[in-house]
Amino acid sequence: MSADGLKARVTDAVDRLAEELEALSHRIHDHPELAFNEERAHAWLVEFLEKHGARVERGVGGLPTAFRATIPGSAPGPTIAIMAEYDALPGIGHACGHNVIATAGAGAGAALAAALGSLPFAGRVQVIGTPAEEGGAGKVRLLDAGVFKDVDAAMMIHGRCGTQVWRPSLGIIKAKVEYFGQAAHASSWPWRGVNALNAIIQLFVSLDLMRQQLRPEARVHGVITNGGAQANIIPEYTSAEFYLRSRSVVYCRELARRFQAAADGAATATGCRAQVTVDPTVHEPLRANPTMAGLFAKNLEVIAFPEDPDDGQAGYGSTDCGNVSQRIPTIHPYIRISPDGVPGHSREFATWARSPLARAGMLAGAKALALTALDLLAAPDRLAAAKADFEKEEDS
Ligand SMILES: [Zn+2]
Ligand SMILES: [Zn+2]
Repeated sequence: MSADGLKARVTDAVDRLAEELEALSHRIHDHPELAFNEERAHAWLVEFLEKHGARVERGVGGLPTAFRATIPGSAPGPTIAIMAEYDALPGIGHACGHNVIATAGAGAGAALAAALGSLPFAGRVQVIGTPAEEGGAGKVRLLDAGVFKDVDAAMMIHGRCGTQVWRPSLGIIKAKVEYFGQAAHASSWPWRGVNALNAIIQLFVSLDLMRQQLRPEARVHGVITNGGAQANIIPEYTSAEFYLRSRSVVYCRELARRFQAAADGAATATGCRAQVTVDPTVHEPLRANPTMAGLFAKNLEVIAFPEDPDDGQAGYGSTDCGNVSQRIPTIHPYIRISPDGVPGHSREFATWARSPLARAGMLAGAKALALTALDLLAAPDRLAAAKADFEKEEDS
């Protein structure tokens, strides 16, 4: 069969699965589950993939809500992974649209299995269910557990207010700070207390001043996770969590150094003791892969789902997919699931993640992922070019 004929069979299969995929996307959206607790989404996605002919392993990499579904090829060969995320955010549900990522990825795998049974090329496609993108760095756990060991190239889509095949992402170092003071009556003996909330406030002020001298794409932001117990007690213990982000891990480490100095300074100023704990898991920035991005963009043309110009109105987020992209050739294209200008992690975006636009973006994502995986398996020189891209030096 010609390459075009093969692609048409796969896109037709996605269209035949459209109702089932949309229902699955809505079901996941209606039952938001937080990082590492995505039990229902895991069960529904696994069931869907098995029903359409993929061979599924549950709980891979030691994570109960991870999975790996394999669509075999005609002979041993390279492995192309399609990643699926399905965790939600605390309090605001599927405001990152991971229900769309999940169903686009599972839809790609199910369409390949349903249309072709096994692929007419050497190698295989795997749909890897990756839990806990929001804050849990689930992909780092799966990388460490060897789940991506045999993967030659990986890809996923993410919903956004526009379709852009390439957008950078920021690295993150996460830091927690705790201040230890001394409790006392806030009215009758305030001079006998050491105020741990003052230390946190001083730290926020210092970071706000520091921000003036940071590189434009750096981001430092935090929340107070414990600000004291009651207004009539001088807080003896407070805590806060921060993300320190930038385009390079090297600069993230510089931010961590300055953060430590600011935290120590706030302790000195207030007479508290500071304890800074830096999360050993570093989120790495996305590494570009122009070859794979080019194939994906061509497939968007094939299915008449156009790329949008980036309006430059938004900054960059981060993803644990960045860590995958620093190990193997990877792409993380964005697909439109909302009108222009709707921020991710907003209640408005959560609503759009369950809309006709989300359905269109999810089906386009499923098609473009499946076709790009076929492109990489059909011609070994394309995969070789993707690997050559990966080997190129990047600026830090
Ligand atoms: Zn998110
Ligand atoms: Zn997300």
